[in-house]
Amino acid sequence: MIYLDNAATTKMKDSVISAMLPYFTETFGNASSTYTSAGQAARRAMNEAREKIASLIGATARELYFTSGGSEADNWAIKGVALKNKDKGNHIITTTVEHHAVLHTCQFLEKQGFEVTYVPVDEFGMVSPEDIKNAITDKTILVSVMFANNEIGTINPIAEIGGICKEKGVYFHTDAVQATGAVEIDVEKMNIDLLSMSAHKFHGPKGVGALYIRKGVKIENLIHGGAQESGRRATTENVAGIIGMAQALSEACENMQEKTKKLVQMRDYIIDTVLREIPYTRLNGHREKRLPNNTSFCFRYIEGESLLLSLDMLGFVVSSGSACTSGSLDPSHVLLGIGLPHEIAHGSLRASLSEFNTKEEIDAFLKALPPIVQRLRDMSPLYEGVEGKE
Ligand SMILES: *Cc1c(COP(=O)(O)O)cnc(C)c1O
Repeated sequence: MIYLDNAATTKMKDSVISAMLPYFTETFGNASSTYTSAGQAARRAMNEAREKIASLIGATARELYFTSGGSEADNWAIKGVALKNKDKGNHIITTTVEHHAVLHTCQFLEKQGFEVTYVPVDEFGMVSPEDIKNAITDKTILVSVMFANNEIGTINPIAEIGGICKEKGVYFHTDAVQATGAVEIDVEKMNIDLLSMSAHKFHGPKGVGALYIRKGVKIENLIHGGAQESGRRATTENVAGIIGMAQALSEACENMQEKTKKLVQMRDYIIDTVLREIPYTRLNGHREKRLPNNTSFCFRYIEGESLLLSLDMLGFVVSSGSACTSGSLDPSHVLLGIGLPHEIAHGSLRASLSEFNTKEEIDAFLKALPPIVQRLRDMSPLYEGVEGKE
């Protein structure tokens, strides 16, 4: 198997598993049972992990709250701020290309009487800080803009948007699930008030993430129950998962520049080769301001789903932007959001890399892809008569 779907999830590192193991079998105490030494040991380890993760995004440990993943962090940030601040206003600003964890949460809040502005993005998937600024009214309580897009990799001007929100006195949340561990993040410098992350996107375990909540931000609880996470999120702490997350993020942030350089080289090699070798193909997302590991294309005259299945049969794991998995025939909202017509958006393919990928794997992929695209086009009625005409 050649795994090129790291935007969906990543393989856990052996070192991360090793770091976690003792917390299943030895230090398995309840981190909130601090009247026992077993509980204290678990709590100590958890707090060290909290400090480590917080420091890697420029936050303090008291501002970092563990969750079950990125979706919960997004839900908590948006619903929590909306509910707690509804006396100040009922207006939320986000973009048209957010992850469904943000979009569906906003749609839910619309049904509860909140008003949401979905700011459009440009042809590269980039949101304009000026557009955000212009959308802010005296009713606005929250701006939520993703750090980097999970489908097309575009990185937004987060620091600029943060500056605007600070100036206007509006909370700023960013879904940084794709960006954490991949690019430099500093919640202070970037004026971020709330930030979502998820361990399984940076070689950590699934089912654990975190929400950074700046000190002083007014936010309602989402998960009610016990007094865990300083009384802000109930449920017995996932200590092993939290340890794994800290280990994974530490490793991701180690030698980040070096790893980025290698990934960017591979990424650009894929982009250049695909655009050169396969006609009627476009790159989705921004050419430079994109995640080091993301490539996303649309191949005209074919269905992304068929392409994905053909590649899968040869052992290449990639993803298609079209949402067939969710039982819908609609193409990706992100690809429509950057202005692509349906018929082009349908032919999408995302190959996302990790530090585990090798040049040999990429070469194998680049060798396999063009003939598959050609074969699918040859079978497509849309393609008939196109060849040689453009
Ligand atoms: C994967 C992802 C999520 C969801 O994270 P989970 O931990 O799987 O819930 C949210 N936002 C973005 C941008 C993602 O890529």
